[in-house]
Amino acid sequence: MSAVTASPLTSSLKHSDANTKQLKHWIGGNPVEGSSGRFADVFHPASGLVQARVPLANADEVDKAVAAAAAAFPDWSSQPPLRRARVMFRFREIFERRIEEVAVLINREHGKVLSDARGEATRGLEVVEFATGIPQLLKGEFTEQVGAGIDSWSMRQPLGVVAGITPFNFPAMVPMWMFPIALACGNTFILKPSERDPSSSVLLAEMLKEAGLPDGVFNVVHGDKVAVDAILAHPTIQAVSFVGSTPIAEYVYREGTKHGKRVQALGGAKNHMIVMPDADLDQAADALTSAAYGSAGERCMAISVAVAVGSQTADTLIEKLESRIAKLRVGDGTKEEADLGPLITKPHLDKVSNYVELGGREGAELVVDGRASALPHGEGFFLGACLFDHVKPEMRIYKEEIFGPVLGVVRVNNFETALQLVNEHEYGNGTSLFTRDGDTARDFTRRVQAGMVGINVPIPVPMAFHSFGGWKRSLFGDHAVHGPEGVRFYTRLKTVTARWPTGIRTGVDTSMPTLG
Ligand code: NAD
Repeated sequence: MSAVTASPLTSSLKHSDANTKQLKHWIGGNPVEGSSGRFADVFHPASGLVQARVPLANADEVDKAVAAAAAAFPDWSSQPPLRRARVMFRFREIFERRIEEVAVLINREHGKVLSDARGEATRGLEVVEFATGIPQLLKGEFTEQVGAGIDSWSMRQPLGVVAGITPFNFPAMVPMWMFPIALACGNTFILKPSERDPSSSVLLAEMLKEAGLPDGVFNVVHGDKVAVDAILAHPTIQAVSFVGSTPIAEYVYREGTKHGKRVQALGGAKNHMIVMPDADLDQAADALTSAAYGSAGERCMAISVAVAVGSQTADTLIEKLESRIAKLRVGDGTKEEADLGPLITKPHLDKVSNYVELGGREGAELVVDGRASALPHGEGFFLGACLFDHVKPEMRIYKEEIFGPVLGVVRVNNFETALQLVNEHEYGNGTSLFTRDGDTARDFTRRVQAGMVGINVPIPVPMAFHSFGGWKRSLFGDHAVHGPEGVRFYTRLKTVTARWPTGIRTGVDTSMPTLG
């Protein structure tokens, strides 16, 4: 594994409170300074330096954003869906024109390589494209003559003020899983982005304003647990979409529903890829390398466990992975030649490195140790690709989400044992199977306990017009995000049964109405 040196960008960054850029909330269509007096540092992960300070909102600031969103709701929700769709069309054009700005911002605060950041922005854009179809998506159902002279129809109406709480690993795409559909359905929105890479959210707010979105319809409140708790308890907020780690997802689901809100809370993952003896092992090794180490493993759909069926498959796979890992370049993501950027923060780097240490103590074989590739990068939060062989289900490195460039290979003797491993794991986000056998693939698709399934596709992230969500402890709530599930989550069903006075031909009847 080779290293790429730091970019000149880093030399212009200083760590000094007086000089550090201070970020703002976005409330009522304008940037607003934080008033709580609490801040968090936003790092430039490739250099390890602080590049900005983000204000951490208190309950009063959340309340101001909710008031702005509540004031904007009556007018926005009364707009014809086509008019709301037109705002999305204009936002789409602006976003596409400025997509490089979005990618650069993602790279600066998250650290992922630019090509990956562009991919993230594009996947977000696809949800906007889906949301432009809202007039079609909101069409209800109609039945003529449900009873004599009676018609019935259903419609989906917006909820009101809704909120999104998002993780660091996709600072543009995950908010875009939520707000395009929420807004197109007629809701107004409060976004609480990750405090670790918060700037993309405000850039998105500026673009929405440029697209003609009325002030107050979309608001950004930066913060930590204090802001999240204020959102969860706020009586005006009708629904909360959350994406992040499982303990917080479970907390948000519990607290949000306790306060009477609709909640969808997507959590962590430990995605398995099963490699059968009949698979194309070059294709499988390419797929595994990309899916395990892309974005330095900081993807909820990253593959972190490879289940090799048969010892011959495992030996060959390890050999092929080793040769591919040797060619991966770790470095500043602004460099086109870098494959893996840094991790998000020093504490996260330490956490992932500790898991690498732990795996050795637990008895797994560390075939590739990526810790050395960090050395040329000074204070940047770098870690090279790590590969473990002989990982066992009872080890913590198997059971727990590591969320870094660490892949573990588990060896099993047959497909049934491989399937059982996937099904017994507490997480059920994504999984995939590499095989040439259609019968095995069909059996796997039917019986596997996970929300997103790939056949010879390592990261089966559904497109914007399908819905994204895991099973088990990877999703709390009933609805996945975006696609048709997104429309259902952000709307309430109303069913109308109507007849006109001339149709009332009988007198009082206290029995349950039936067709008669
Ligand atoms: P995180 O859970 O630490 O943070 C997510 C959000 O919750 C942030 O906005 C954060 O400010 C807030 N938060 C953090 N601690 C909190 C607390 N104690 N109380 C209330 N709110 C709190 O997650 P992260 O580290 O930003 O993101 C990585 C995690 O997200 C991984 O576990 C990853 O698998 C998961 N993720 C899941 C999906 C999915 O679709 N299932 C997608 C992306 C990321």
